[in-house]
Amino acid sequence: MPKITHSTDVDRELFDHELDSFVPDVICDAHAHLWARDDLPPAALTGAFGTMDVPVVDLATYRSYMAELLPNRRIAGGLLIPGAVGATGAGLTAENELVSREARWAPGWRSSFLITPQMDPEYVRSEVRRLGASGLKCYYVHSGKSPSWDAEIPDYLPERLVRVADEEGLCITLHMVRRRAVADPSNQHWIRHYCETYPRMRLILAHAARGFNPYHTIEGIQALKDLPNLWCDMSAVADVGACEAIIEALGHERLLYGTDFPVSHLRGRCVAIGDGFLWLYEDTLDWSTVWFLPLQPVLIGLESLRVLKQAAWHQRLSDRQVEDIFCNNARSTLG
Ligand SMILES: [Zn+2]
Repeated sequence: MPKITHSTDVDRELFDHELDSFVPDVICDAHAHLWARDDLPPAALTGAFGTMDVPVVDLATYRSYMAELLPNRRIAGGLLIPGAVGATGAGLTAENELVSREARWAPGWRSSFLITPQMDPEYVRSEVRRLGASGLKCYYVHSGKSPSWDAEIPDYLPERLVRVADEEGLCITLHMVRRRAVADPSNQHWIRHYCETYPRMRLILAHAARGFNPYHTIEGIQALKDLPNLWCDMSAVADVGACEAIIEALGHERLLYGTDFPVSHLRGRCVAIGDGFLWLYEDTLDWSTVWFLPLQPVLIGLESLRVLKQAAWHQRLSDRQVEDIFCNNARSTLG
């Protein structure tokens, strides 16, 4: 099981050497999870989220971890997303209240409301208003499809809830699934249909349009370049190519920095293999035997920053444009 870990000397050396001169002073995180241990469904307790030994992972906990990943940087805000993937009933309600409470008293922070496809639109509307949420978050695990990774977007993000997002002026963070992500015709169809039909809804495709295999984003994002209410966050992406494709197709203004905390604090990275991808975590293999020197995987959050640095370099972005990706774009997208 991958573990949420603290920064080590190896992480700090990599940051100092490769990233310190690139990462701006002020940062907004468009994709950060908070959660309470008691809200996690049993399956999540045996996963990475369950390795955190505090009862509530709140904004203060998040900040302490971020100070390690991004030393001497100011996290000025962003979007808090409930972390209890798969939670239902009281656990789900408690998660939505947790992120709302944390965002309410922290300047610059906004919260997302975790939906399930079964929810009544008027319930979502009244809860979003009550909690002051700025966005909706859906998870494919609620789709009821088997296998859930093959679900089509309306299976976990039904149109009637997208309409609520449009009427309430909300963003929606979408981690799409299916083998080829944004290169999949069904995913492309539904993204276009939702964006065109609901222009006040702002759609954020998480993980560089789920570009864990960058070739899917390189192939698919061009088809969506004319949609003005489409953004991407680059959280947890560790392979070069997807961020460049987004900047080329949509413009740098539509790319948002995000950590996907706590994924940022797992070790390893995701790599494209053939037409898919593979997550290599600290415990996936024996790192001491796979190279001529012992390999030491670093925090995924660092791998992700390296990718963004490469994208900025390849796209010849100015310092100001890099600052936009790290903060200004999120500020304007999230209001
Ligand atoms: Zn996430």
